[in-house]
Amino acid sequence: MEASPRAKLFAFKCVQNMLAINDKLFRYTNIPNRCAFCSQHGETMEHIFFTCLFARSVWFASASSPFPPNTYLSSVVDWILQLHINPAGWNNYQGQWMAKCIITIWYIWLACCDKVFRGIDTNPGDINTRTEIEWTAEATLARHPSTNRPSCRHFIDQNWACPPLGTQKINFAGIYDAHNQNGQIALILRSSNGWCREVKQLRCRVQSQHEAEMQAALEAAIWANQLNSNAIQIEGNCVEIIKAIKGEACHINWRARSRLASIHEKIRKNGDDTTFAFLTCCKKANQAAVALANRTNSNVICNIAFPPPSFLFDVLSLDSRRNRDQNQGSEVNEPYFPGF
Ligand SMILES: [Zn+2]
Repeated sequence: MEASPRAKLFAFKCVQNMLAINDKLFRYTNIPNRCAFCSQHGETMEHIFFTCLFARSVWFASASSPFPPNTYLSSVVDWILQLHINPAGWNNYQGQWMAKCIITIWYIWLACCDKVFRGIDTNPGDINTRTEIEWTAEATLARHPSTNRPSCRHFIDQNWACPPLGTQKINFAGIYDAHNQNGQIALILRSSNGWCREVKQLRCRVQSQHEAEMQAALEAAIWANQLNSNAIQIEGNCVEIIKAIKGEACHINWRARSRLASIHEKIRKNGDDTTFAFLTCCKKANQAAVALANRTNSNVICNIAFPPPSFLFDVLSLDSRRNRDQNQGSEVNEPYFPGF
């Protein structure tokens, strides 16, 4: 299935009936058997994923056809087990039907957990945006072996790729200057047609390379929140940092780890429509941010610049051109940098 390991694990837990839903919990605890979203009905998997008003608005607002609740059988488990069969008229080119359905119910589940444990209400439209970002990113990974996961040896050859239509991308890089115990941070914001929108340079006090990268990721998350955009991808080439942010096993020190809570808080910022996803890329795809971070010397405190400094023109043009060559035949990615 074209989905992240965490989404796959979630599907497995559903099929094994391992989710901690209230319908099960209330038998052993004093938790009432009420749906976290509507408090009207018993919370079963069938209810929270399909029949609840909240779930129905998610499916209704999604671009999926046919309307999944109409294709579900007697139970969510049966529904998952027959998802490998595409509905009539489904074109696999856009991505897997199964992956889309699983990612959607996974985000519904995360919204349910947010509601229960953090008191955060999620907008059904946000669930669709999150699903769409993850689903298209995973479909791209699966279809282009050359842009595969970090463990893949082809990964080193990946070029910078435009984010999906309507999405912006921030590339971040952090470099640790051991001599001055300084972190040099660079962020580059580009739109879905590859145009550079703004660049940002900062310095901070850090004591390791991972800490510099983590601070860069945090600055990217802060910026993403400020941008007031509906969908943003944040991309860096430090695999360990992205793993840490996604909650996967990783090897980073406690000083770098101490910034995770702030990053997660930015990701889940309440009352904000901004939705963003962290992605890993190789150093080549992140070369513009790395080049900018290298030039973030002691004269820089915090700079936001547009147009970007002239030494970046070449590398930004190269990124756009390679991206355009990769996507030849499709109508997107026409303009390229510098064209402001
Ligand atoms: Zn409900």
